[in-house]
Amino acid sequence: MRWSLCRQTHARLRKIVGALGFTHVDPSRIFCVRGYGSTSEAWARIWGLPTLWQQVLGIRPAYVVEIIEPEFSHLPRAEQDRVLIHELLHIPRTFSGAIRPHRTPAFRINRKTVERFYQRYLAGSRRARARPAAGLRLRRPRSTG
Ligand SMILES: [Zn+2]
Repeated sequence: MRWSLCRQTHARLRKIVGALGFTHVDPSRIFCVRGYGSTSEAWARIWGLPTLWQQVLGIRPAYVVEIIEPEFSHLPRAEQDRVLIHELLHIPRTFSGAIRPHRTPAFRINRKTVERFYQRYLAGSRRARARPAAGLRLRRPRSTG
C-alpha cells in the first residue's frame, strides 16, 4: 500500500461537513489520503486514532479518510459524495477518535441513511447557488431537520 495526502478530497469533505451542519466534526483533524494498491473491496475507509495513542502521544483525536484508487475515481461524482458521507457518518458525535459501527440500536449507516443525508446535502448546495452573491454576505447553507 502507499498513500498520498489528497487536498481535493479534503476540500470536498469540508464542503459536505458545512452543508450538512456536522458541527461535531472538526475538518482540521481529518486527513484525507488516496490509497493505492489495496485489495479491499471498499471505495473508501475511515481510520480513527485510538484513545490510547492520543494519551501516549499527547495529541487530540484525529481521523483519516482514505479513498481507494483507482476504484473511487471510477465512480460517478454523486456516488463519490455518497461514499464520503458514509465515511463521515462513522464519526461519532463525541469526535473521540472512535468509529461508530454500521449498526447500533439508535442509528444505522446504510444506503437509506446515506441517501437521506445526500439529499439534504444537495438541497443545501442548491440553496447556496440560488442565493444572490452581490452585496450579500454569503452564509453556509444550513441543514434542515
Ligand atoms: Zn462503513
